[in-house]
Formats: sequence, C-alpha cells, structure tokens
Amino acid sequence: MARINPEFSKELKKYGAFDFNACYNCGNCTAVCSLATEDDSFPRDMVRYSVLGLEEDIQSSLKPWLCYYCGECSLLCPKTADPGELMMSLRRWLTSKYDWTGLSGLLYKSLSMTTLALIAIAFVVTAFSAYNNFNLEVIMHYGHYFEFFAIILVFAVILLPNLIRMWNLTILKPGIKIPGKNYFKATADLFIHMFTQKRALGCDDNQFRWFEHFILVFGYLALLFTTVVLNWFGTNNGFIIWLGYIESIIIFIVTFDFVLSRIRKQKAVNTHSQPSDWLFVIWLLLMGFTAFIVRLFIDFELLADFKWIYIIHLIILAQWALIIVPFGKWTHFLYRSFAMYFDSLLKMSKS
Ligand code: SF4
Ligand code: SF4
Repeated sequence: MARINPEFSKELKKYGAFDFNACYNCGNCTAVCSLATEDDSFPRDMVRYSVLGLEEDIQSSLKPWLCYYCGECSLLCPKTADPGELMMSLRRWLTSKYDWTGLSGLLYKSLSMTTLALIAIAFVVTAFSAYNNFNLEVIMHYGHYFEFFAIILVFAVILLPNLIRMWNLTILKPGIKIPGKNYFKATADLFIHMFTQKRALGCDDNQFRWFEHFILVFGYLALLFTTVVLNWFGTNNGFIIWLGYIESIIIFIVTFDFVLSRIRKQKAVNTHSQPSDWLFVIWLLLMGFTAFIVRLFIDFELLADFKWIYIIHLIILAQWALIIVPFGKWTHFLYRSFAMYFDSLLKMSKS
C-alpha cells in the first residue's frame, strides 16, 4: 500500500512549490502539455501525487525530469496550482533525495547556509593565497591542479554515488527488470540527450531557448577542456588562446541573456526564480567573464600587477566546483540526461 506523507506539501513548498493544493483535477495541464501521451496523464498525475503526499511514488518517478518548463500548463491552469513550477520544485526535491550527503536539500532550503558556504570557500582561497605570500605563479599552479582534481573528486565522491542512488530509486527499488544488454543499447540516448537536450524541442515555442542551452553546454564543456586539459592560462599557443576567448565570450553572452530573462520574467521558466536559479546563471556568467579578463591581463602582461583578478576568478571557480556543480542546479543537467536514459530503458523493457 502506498504510504502517505501528510507533511509533503509543507516540505515541497520549501523547494519553491506554490499552491498546488488548489488543483481540482480538471486535466487542462495534461491536454496542453506536448510531452503527455495517450496513456500518460502527465503532468496532472504528478500534481495529484503531490497533493496526496505520495512521496514514494514521486521518488521513483522520472517524469519531473521529462518536463522542460515551457509553462503552457501553468498558463492554462484555471486554478493557481502552477503545475510547471511544481515540476521544477519536484526536480529540486528529487535532487535532494538522490544526494547521499544531504547537502543539496540543506542548500536548496536555506539561503543563509548557501551564503555561508560561499563565504567559507572565499575565505579558504584567500587564506591559501596569503599563506603563499600572494605568489601568483604558485597560486596559478595550484589553481590549475585544483580544477583537475575537483572534477575527478566531485564526480567520483558525490555525483557517481548519487546517480547510483537515482538508479536504485527509479529502477531497482520498484523491481523493474532490465536485461543487461539494454543498458548498452540505450547509451546513445544518454549522450544524445546530454549534449543536445533534444526533448526540449518537444515543447512549443521553445526553439530559441533550446538553441541557447545547446551552445551553452558546448561552450561550457569546451572552456572546461581548454582551461583544464589545454592549460589556457599557461599556454602560448595562439589557437588555444583564441579558442578560450571565443568560448568564454559565448558563455558570457548566453548567461547574460539568461540573467536578463530572469530579471524581465518574460518567460514562464523565469517567473519564479529561486536562489539556486540565480546562483547558477550568475556564477556561470562570472566564470566566463573572469576567465576572459584573466587571459586578457596575461596577454597584456598586466596580471602580475593585478593578482587579485586571478584570486577572484579562483574563488568563483572553487565556489562553482564545490557548491553549484555537486549540490546546485548544475546537477539537473546530469540527472535529466540520466532520466532520459532510464526512461529509454523502461520503454525498451515494455516493448
Ligand atoms: S490544469 Fe490546474 S487544476 Fe487542472 S489538473 Fe492541471 S493543475 Fe489541476
Ligand atoms: S511546463 Fe510544459 S513540458 Fe512541463 S509539464 Fe507544463 S506543459 Fe508540460
């Protein structure tokens, strides 16, 4: 028998959900959602589960990840249930359920804890720089190693175990049997969705946002590769230098547009920005901007006189790598891609 959590409404509201209890089950949201199918009353079923407090059913569901927040359902909802925003809140809540450290939930629910964590990282980086007498060469040397090891550690210690927990909650625990060979067959789906997020194209009027996300993902991954593997700040290779400039400009332009959209609230997805949404776009913008400035100062041989520019970049990078990537909105990119992968596995097992 399904277990009911009477406190679920209260809990979900801490993740940004509004008045979903106002839902009177009319079905308009399902009728308008371009992702709903004949045998699927999405997103109405998720609204019902939330109203009833069917926590375990939501925990084992991949559906909140299938929504790309076009906002059509919220526009046509005759009540104030705002199903689009509810899906967003469920994604935040699910993130906290997958995370074995418990920090995702803590940081999503508490802005003061997030601020404290960001300040603590800024303090550690500054103290480390002071300990090394603000020797730029030494700080940049360790900064480069930090990038490399942070990626490996965050993935191995936090993200990989969390993906296994997600797999357990959505496939193993509900008792779904997937033949081993299907895991290989569906791998293409994982990478296609990860790099193209093509399901977002299923949302009406979403083409431009999809395109922006698409170039942002490639710009971000390319800049990561250029700085970590090609050592952008340490190279004299003209091609790599220009490549890094172009990538950081792409990130800056796209994230600047994202920040403007959130300020203007023109699209449904930007109507109810939570602190985690702001942190994601602002830190990405700052990363692109400060990386660009650091390289510019290196090329004009000014960085030695303006060491603090690199230290600021390192602080932003460390906050991004240790807070936003493992516990913040960045994880949605990963969980959504794996949700598509698991969803392909479920469809294969039914066919
Ligand atoms: S449109 Fe609104 S009221 Fe109707 S089922 Fe969906 S959430 Fe409930
Ligand atoms: S926001 Fe768009 S994709 Fe998401 S449930 Fe509503 S109509 Fe469907």
